[in-house]
Amino acid sequence: MFMTDDMDEEAPREFQTETSCPSCGQKLYFIFYRTRVSYEEAVEIETFFCKKCLYKSSQIRPLESDSPKKLVLEVRNHDDLRTILYRSPEAKIEIPELEAEIDPGEISTGEITTIEGVLTRLLEKLDLFDQDDVDPEKLNEVKSHIKSIIKGNGEKFTFVMDDPLGKSRINSSRVIVLHKSGD
Ligand SMILES: [Zn+2]
Repeated sequence: MFMTDDMDEEAPREFQTETSCPSCGQKLYFIFYRTRVSYEEAVEIETFFCKKCLYKSSQIRPLESDSPKKLVLEVRNHDDLRTILYRSPEAKIEIPELEAEIDPGEISTGEITTIEGVLTRLLEKLDLFDQDDVDPEKLNEVKSHIKSIIKGNGEKFTFVMDDPLGKSRINSSRVIVLHKSGD
């Protein structure tokens, strides 16, 4: 789907689909629109919506690509965990202090989340880890470490988002943006 700058705001389009709601079985509605989210980037937002039980599933897709960027935020306290971020479909997340990485392959579309949301996802990912492949003691250690950060132990860590599309954003005045031109 291509567009020019003056086309980026339009009324949402909506139609009923043949897809059943996973929650109540009613036919889902599909709502599609383009907008500029607060990052001043054009995105397409696609939502499947159930009018009966209000089940909702959204996908966000960036429309333009940008130069590759690495975003770095020092998470200093519990409030920083609520920092909102947009993660593009190809952004990789790294938290060196936790030796943790989330590869872009695990999301096919962009997502708006928070640092805490990413940590929670990381925990879920570790829960799915094949216990045979790793030292279970080490795994439990990492998991309880992440849990205590989420609970607010105030530990500092570095949150890195490496995005070849350059569309990801971290909504903080302290974010450091590294442009990776000659990388
Ligand atoms: Zn439903």
